[in-house]
Amino acid sequence: VSIYLAVDIGGTQMRAASYPAESIQPLSYLRITTYSSGTTPLLRLYELISSIWPKDDKVAGIGVVAPGPINSREGILLAAPNIPEWRNLALQKELEEHFNVPVALGNDANLAALGEWKYGIGRDHHHLIYLTISTGIGSGIIIDDEILEGAAGLGAELGHITVLPEGPFCGCGQRGHLEAVASGTAISHWVQEKINEHVVTSLPANRKLTAKDISIAAREGDRLAKEAFERAGKFIGWALADFLHIFNPTIVIFGGGVSQSGSLLLNPINDELKKRVMSPQYLENLLVTNAALGDNAGLLGALALVRKVTIKEM
Ligand SMILES: [Zn+2]
Repeated sequence: VSIYLAVDIGGTQMRAASYPAESIQPLSYLRITTYSSGTTPLLRLYELISSIWPKDDKVAGIGVVAPGPINSREGILLAAPNIPEWRNLALQKELEEHFNVPVALGNDANLAALGEWKYGIGRDHHHLIYLTISTGIGSGIIIDDEILEGAAGLGAELGHITVLPEGPFCGCGQRGHLEAVASGTAISHWVQEKINEHVVTSLPANRKLTAKDISIAAREGDRLAKEAFERAGKFIGWALADFLHIFNPTIVIFGGGVSQSGSLLLNPINDELKKRVMSPQYLENLLVTNAALGDNAGLLGALALVRKVTIKEM
């Protein structure tokens, strides 16, 4: 019997799950810390995979969710913001040589998109956009049932399009990107700025606010908090109208913590979409919805990727 392994590498924790050939019900699941004294993150990763390795069955391949930008053609992790010692790491080759099975590597947003497309809310769709809105804004695009990656695997970065040329700095170092005005971090910064300008609000002035704090206040009717989500949703809807013009998907899926704020964000997004699309046809067969797989979207995307790659290789 062939078993597939999927691994999700984060800056604080690494998770792994094993799956039978055709199901998405894991046979086993393990989680360890990325850092531990006297060892390195790469050795921890080997340890995690060895621990979940099945005793009696054959492993057909390992799918890996990389913790940063990758060159997916060559399986190289270019950088990992939360694991600084990993730069230009040939992660695919390292793992293939160590474990002697095929390894497939993908970035977290692309694999979450793939997971939702194959096993989640995006099943039965051939053209899909996935946007994860949390501390940053990540994205994955599937066109004609294939992940869109570009020449070196660096494409489909929808969070890093310019919506305010002279706007605030983005996590990537550039200015005015969608992520810099509409991510959870951006929502908190904007509210903090308004509090510093003494705008009236029920939110406390003396502690760091999260997007979640602000969403709770918005639901309780706080005007500043509501405005913060309306503003972020407007920028996202504005950008999304452009994405519809470019990709013409039949489903747009929102993942990430900030998308849990529901209608606070979705209403302004939908309002802006209606105003900005150049023809109502773009919206006719379009489903705009929240993700279905939650935290497991990445793991299941890695599973979908490694199944696809190994079946192609055979
Ligand atoms: Zn950026």
